[in-house]
Amino acid sequence: MQITEIYKSLQGESTYAGLPCVFVRLTGCNLRCSWCDTEYSFHGGKKMTPEEVFDEVQSLSPSGGLIEITGGEPMLQERELVPLMQWLLREGYKVLLETSGERPLDRVPAAVVKIVDVKCPGSEEGDSFRMENLETLTPHDEVKFVISDRADYAFAREFTLHHSLAHRVNAVLFSPAFSKAASGARDASNCLLDPQQLAEWMLEDNVPARLGLQIHKLIWDPALKGV
Ligand code: SF4
Repeated sequence: MQITEIYKSLQGESTYAGLPCVFVRLTGCNLRCSWCDTEYSFHGGKKMTPEEVFDEVQSLSPSGGLIEITGGEPMLQERELVPLMQWLLREGYKVLLETSGERPLDRVPAAVVKIVDVKCPGSEEGDSFRMENLETLTPHDEVKFVISDRADYAFAREFTLHHSLAHRVNAVLFSPAFSKAASGARDASNCLLDPQQLAEWMLEDNVPARLGLQIHKLIWDPALKGV
């Protein structure tokens, strides 16, 4: 497997936010979101066997706990990733998979919590979500929309309502997009959309979603990797 980094931090942006978590970041992505903050994962990385990845996870979190598989787009390495996720589950880990939903998700083990980041138009990768993946969503999964303006918000609201997401999954998350040229300020000034504005739109429409903030970018310098 091609791995960009494995590190321990706090989970930053889901209903698991705030929990200690080991992140396994796989190298490579087939999308190019305009606000992407992990472009360093597109290339390079280190070749590791699933056994080596498992050993490193276990050394960082020996007694179970939360593991997030992320990228890049981790499902590009599905052939080795699926057995690794099954192994982690067997050993008692709770496994989250962060994915754009552009690749098929039907082979993801049922016990894995999928956090599916459906791209809005402002990402310049709108329409990348594979609609068949809606059928793979289960009541423990989460769907996230990263929102940079009013058009993104309208897209996220309509997608949520049209596909009854609130009835399909554990949580629908609306998160303000973050500037990829973020200054060191650990506050909302780096958001492309003011969280207060997003909150007001959500309240006006009584939209069945929760506001999500990337808490790791409010705790540490937003430019830091590996946190
Ligand atoms: S899918 Fe994720 S890693 Fe890929 S370009 Fe978009 S934000 Fe970056």
